[in-house]
Amino acid sequence: MEQLLLFDIDGTLTRTENGHLPFNQAILQTFGIAGDIRSVVPDGNTDPLIVKDIFIKANVEIEIGAERWQQFTAKLRASYRQHVMRGETTVRALPGAVKLLKALSVNDGFISSVVTGNFEATAEVKLAAAGLLNYLSRGAYASDSEHRSDLPAIAKRRCEVLTGQTIAADRCVIIGDTPKDLAAARDNGMKCLLVGTGRYPVEELLYWQPDGCLADLSDTHAVLTTLASL
Ligand SMILES: [Mg+2]
Repeated sequence: MEQLLLFDIDGTLTRTENGHLPFNQAILQTFGIAGDIRSVVPDGNTDPLIVKDIFIKANVEIEIGAERWQQFTAKLRASYRQHVMRGETTVRALPGAVKLLKALSVNDGFISSVVTGNFEATAEVKLAAAGLLNYLSRGAYASDSEHRSDLPAIAKRRCEVLTGQTIAADRCVIIGDTPKDLAAARDNGMKCLLVGTGRYPVEELLYWQPDGCLADLSDTHAVLTTLASL
């Protein structure tokens, strides 16, 4: 039976340098307030909750309606594209990510998709910049819900519609780099493989007792072996 692999993006498949530049610019352009993503811990969080955290940290009281979020999403996408095009922000695939996704794409045993705290528009820009977009089917994004734990079920449903098959929750594996990825998996009865390529080293990730844990995705064979054991 197939496994549905739900990859996180930041710290799992990709690493971004100077991602604060487009993010902070989009905050200023949308809300007219200077906010700095470097003032909070964004790892594992969704973009809307990151923005709210930034304003809380800066003691700014603000109500953000649906229209404002749409504006922010559009500004963030445009700003990210611009910064990536100019080389001021870089998004690179982490070691082994391309090789792994290629191997999975020609293996009938797997469907690869995403569960990410990025808005869908920004996820596309990042994955395209890292050369990964074509290997991943449409998953779930912060534009679907600001709560990460809502996202795995949405991604699963989209993949079921795409393939015309029902996928059992325990055949789904969240692959991420933070305890928040693990919590989202647990909340949905899914398995979780954590990798030490984000903020948290393997020793710390092991403390949370994920179903699998690897230093990185560089050894395709080791990843496949771990997935087979879940
Ligand atoms: Mg992450």
